[in-house]
Amino acid sequence: MSTKQTFRIAVLPGDGIGPDVIAEGLRVLRSVEAKLGSIQFELQEFSVGAGEYLKSGDPLPAATFEAIKQFDAILLGAMGMPNVRWPSGVEMTPQIDLRERLGLYCGLRPVKLYHAQDTPLKNYGAGEIDLLIVRESTEGLFSSRLNTVPVGATEATDTMRITRQTSERLFRAAFREARKRRSLVSLIDKANVLPSMAFFRGIFDEISREFPDIKTERIYVDAAALYLVQQPQRFDVMVTENMFGDILSDLTGGLVGGMGMAPSADIGDKYAVFQPSHGSAPDIAGKGIANPIATILSVAMMLEWFDTPETKQGATIIHQAVAQVLQTSENRTRDLGGALSTEQMGNLIVETVAEA
Ligand code: ATP
Repeated sequence: MSTKQTFRIAVLPGDGIGPDVIAEGLRVLRSVEAKLGSIQFELQEFSVGAGEYLKSGDPLPAATFEAIKQFDAILLGAMGMPNVRWPSGVEMTPQIDLRERLGLYCGLRPVKLYHAQDTPLKNYGAGEIDLLIVRESTEGLFSSRLNTVPVGATEATDTMRITRQTSERLFRAAFREARKRRSLVSLIDKANVLPSMAFFRGIFDEISREFPDIKTERIYVDAAALYLVQQPQRFDVMVTENMFGDILSDLTGGLVGGMGMAPSADIGDKYAVFQPSHGSAPDIAGKGIANPIATILSVAMMLEWFDTPETKQGATIIHQAVAQVLQTSENRTRDLGGALSTEQMGNLIVETVAEA
């Protein structure tokens, strides 16, 4: 019998480019497993998303939801297709349901520029970009998302829901992340206009006193968008509510080469889901050209989160392999101006891990 430490992972490839990028993420995971020799991964795949809805009438079947909670972590590709909608007309988004139902309040979205050629700011002296967006992922302006607007209504309202309990936990998580990085937390809000955001800021101020070693700043979200374009290198950890985080993380993805470079982790007190920040990218689905790096880096985040010396070493090996592969200008998928397929990029990273 094996004495290796085993990590059980529920794999949800999902829709569109999800299965393609997950396939490469899993190959990299297996190469890390082979490299380290001391740990092993047990994988089980589940069907979730728009494709599952077309088969069973439910994009996140109850039995699947119960089953995936038994795993150590959940690895997700992408979900939703524009032409598969609820009768109300809205797209199905089981990834958001998962965040809410599993209490994954802390969305971690690291943004790192691996090579100067990949930023659209290259002619403006962008310098180093290495920041982390901590996005609240269960409330905020998304909290009205399941409301409906009656036919013939003459107005519609969405609510920005901010709770003390979630905000305290979110801010503590952001401060702890800053301790591992450059010790600066920027609160991104709209406290000058919205009372819910002034409340959010008040809680931030309270929690900041628990972390006297961490520098803080408070920036309105509109100014944050400006500074991200003008001087992205000034940021370390940026903490914000759900909708602002949604928007800013696409902006920051764009700063480092696009959504194919943007990994993420949705973390709660008990469960965690790891997935690229991008969606199912229907415009390139089925073409084999999606960039798998966001998913591969999300796999690294999962290993980091397992928090053992071996898995952390695995995460480091992946980061180094991605950095090494991207040092060569030609090693790019189409979104980064290159010609590699999803699989070819996966191959390069797998080979580099094996040689590490
Ligand atoms: P969602 O709302 O589900 O996040 P979205 O509508 O914002 O999805 P995405 O699916 O993230 O859209 O795609 C946005 C753009 O980025 C598309 O042009 C898509 O082709 C591109 N894109 C997303 N992911 C990748 C990837 N892994 N590789 C290359 N291009 C990508």
